[in-house]
Amino acid sequence: MGGRPKYSLHPLSPHNGRPARSGVGSAGEPERLGHRGGAGRASQSRFRFRCRLNPSPLPMEWRGYYLDGQTAHRQTAIILLTGSGLKVTTEREKTFFWPYREIRQTQGFYPGEQIRLEWGGPDPQILLISEEGFLNALHRLAPDQAAHFNDPTRRKRRLKLAFLAALFTVVFSLTFYFWGIPALASMLTPHVPFSWEERMGEAIVDQWVPPESRCRGESQSALIEDLVKKLTGSLPDAPYRFRVIVVDHPLVNAFAVPGGTTVIFRGLLERMQTAEELAAVLAHELQHNLRRHATRSILQDTSMGLLLSALTGDSTGGIAFGLQSAKTLGLMHYSRQNEEEADREGMRMLIDAGIDPKGMITFFEMIKKEGMEMPAALKYLSSHPLTEERIERLKSLAKEAQGPFVHLLPDDRWEELLHICQSQAGQPSIE
Ligand SMILES: [Zn+2]
Repeated sequence: MGGRPKYSLHPLSPHNGRPARSGVGSAGEPERLGHRGGAGRASQSRFRFRCRLNPSPLPMEWRGYYLDGQTAHRQTAIILLTGSGLKVTTEREKTFFWPYREIRQTQGFYPGEQIRLEWGGPDPQILLISEEGFLNALHRLAPDQAAHFNDPTRRKRRLKLAFLAALFTVVFSLTFYFWGIPALASMLTPHVPFSWEERMGEAIVDQWVPPESRCRGESQSALIEDLVKKLTGSLPDAPYRFRVIVVDHPLVNAFAVPGGTTVIFRGLLERMQTAEELAAVLAHELQHNLRRHATRSILQDTSMGLLLSALTGDSTGGIAFGLQSAKTLGLMHYSRQNEEEADREGMRMLIDAGIDPKGMITFFEMIKKEGMEMPAALKYLSSHPLTEERIERLKSLAKEAQGPFVHLLPDDRWEELLHICQSQAGQPSIE
């Protein structure tokens, strides 16, 4: 068979005007199509074609073989696509019409396979078409009526489209995950009401730091409260009620919870040398709070959880994922900009309160040194990565502070503060 025609091929006069064969007439189409040319004219010109430039790119006429269902002889045939069926003209000059809805496709489901169409029964008439693009043209011409014809090129295209759609989903999700969600979280955070932050903070504290794990030394708690008051005293309108919870646990970590709460673990407190170092850690965490970094971090993790839920179909795990991932990652994982901001503003807070900012540098240097010696114990570093650059920046900020600085606590009071967990440890029943 010839290749796919570049232009529409139109038979000059392929039809002899004889009535359509039995069965075909039931559709009434041959008569309607009305090919009534003379027999002699057709006998000389049949299957001679001329090419005519057709403005439509859709090829309408195709070549194939016709079998009448009674004999094994196959005749060449011209198949014309119409809006409602196939008009077939055989080499014996018979023309008949097969409505699309009455045609069965029994072959041609795979690329390269000859197409076989059947009409009537129980010994159906058969058309065999090997030209590529026939089914595609059929679908394009009569999409509604040709829906039951299976075109492998369309299936291939559908698979390609499905693959492209999946690829797009993955690329979009990754872009959204790594860029869109952090941007979205930053955009939403300023609009979160303070009361929501406080409720969220309460829920986190209740879940992660149960009351029985908290250190309860009253005098020591008062000393810490005084420190917080000194640090926040110059704030015009603090939106939160600040509080510090010390947890009786050797973990070396501290974190800010949305809504004004800072959690410090005993392990971190015990590594501090002076009250100035504690004030520095508090100033840093208070800034995470005031700048709503913790809220942003939770929004981001929750959004990521919701995205994962959407992708995996688990509709309940989003918020849980956000909170859980924050917990397992050593609470909030802040961006570098958030850390630098907490450093810079925390240092400013110390200076405004008349506290020697060098405490922040000595503390961070100690943490960094210990982190290198026993990294497993230092959760703090995972949530507050300390680079040489960061410490250098703090040193240059500290140089700008003139002093004089207040001496926060005499040595004995500082020693007392460090025992904040002992009353609980020694006397667990005391309230
Ligand atoms: Zn931090």
